[in-house]
Amino acid sequence: ARINSALNVRDQFPAIANWHYLDSAATAQKPQAVIDAITKAYAQDYATVHRGVYERSAVMTQSYEDSRAASAKLIGGQSNELIFTRGATEAINMVARALPKNGRSRVLLSRLEHHSNIVPWQLAGYEVDAVPLTAHGQIDLDAAEQMLTEEHRIVALAHVSNVLGSILDAKRAAEIAHSKGALLLLDGCQAVPRLPVDVASIGADFYAFSAHKLYGPTGIGALWSRAKILAELPPWQGGGAMIDTVTFERTTFADPPARFEAGTPHIVGAVGLHAAIDWVGKLSLDSVHAHECALVAEARAALSEVGGVTLYGPEDSAGIVSFNVDGVHAHDTATILDDAGVAVRAGHHCAQPLMEWLGVPATARASFAAHSDSSDIEALVRGIEQVKRIFSR
Ligand code: PMP
Repeated sequence: ARINSALNVRDQFPAIANWHYLDSAATAQKPQAVIDAITKAYAQDYATVHRGVYERSAVMTQSYEDSRAASAKLIGGQSNELIFTRGATEAINMVARALPKNGRSRVLLSRLEHHSNIVPWQLAGYEVDAVPLTAHGQIDLDAAEQMLTEEHRIVALAHVSNVLGSILDAKRAAEIAHSKGALLLLDGCQAVPRLPVDVASIGADFYAFSAHKLYGPTGIGALWSRAKILAELPPWQGGGAMIDTVTFERTTFADPPARFEAGTPHIVGAVGLHAAIDWVGKLSLDSVHAHECALVAEARAALSEVGGVTLYGPEDSAGIVSFNVDGVHAHDTATILDDAGVAVRAGHHCAQPLMEWLGVPATARASFAAHSDSSDIEALVRGIEQVKRIFSR
């Protein structure tokens, strides 16, 4: 089925006119509504948050806290459970650093994790175990169940893979983690822009995401956790805004979420994130998900028809198609596609252990967003035909 602008939002993205942008999994382009909200915040409303007694600062503080509430609501959490971070990477680093190990020094990950859900655990001194994948590129939860022990403090998994688009059965992952007294952290970077998420019904303990993949600005993201867990977590960075009282002898700390937000935050980033949440909310994430699933089906069918293209990942991938043109390095494929006005990512996608599992040095990756349509897939296919012509000479 051809998907012709089913969501009809392409003209709201000024930066992609005459461009087939298929790299939304790396970072999403911004709709005009988000750009306008950021411009207005700097041009009319700007002031610091939390400290000013003057009216403008109070208003800006309200906007910052409204964004917190909207971000928490987006994933089914409470406002006081949501910490603003620089992004998903910082959110995962925070958990790895701040969570007391309680005598458990292992973490259970999967083979498809992004480096930002591997390296922080190593830096924090955890022993890492990695769950294998099924033949369809899903995290093998039966294997996870077998591998999990009482030495594991936490199970940390991608809700949606940034390379394969595989969607985790997150609820089952939570049940497995809890069966051995471990916590579940979900890396929601690719899930939050693509599916409705509800941390409460999943039963997750930590949830991380980045605004820039959700049509919002870079430099801001979030960590959600249960109030009860956050109340017991010590701070991991010190500075302004995270304290209660400071003396040279002893400092006491603010309650969460402030305890985990040292320093002046990304104030306008929060405003932009709120605008992005509102923008995507108007479309509904159910519609975005359905739209991107249809595009994946269309792209996989078209690429299969071209022939000589290996596709990775499950058929029901969320908005992401990784592939290689047989006998051609992904970088060459992406370079020729660039000449044809099609932007795809090529490389290891910050998931080197997954490349090893797939047995390839790199893949090319086309990823979709709300603005993607059949014209992008047609351009991709024409570009791949050109790749094949050049390399068959
Ligand atoms: N996890 C996944 C699955 C990702 O796709 C990304 C971004 N590519 C990250 C984590 C890291 O996100 P950020 O760079 O925004 O912190």
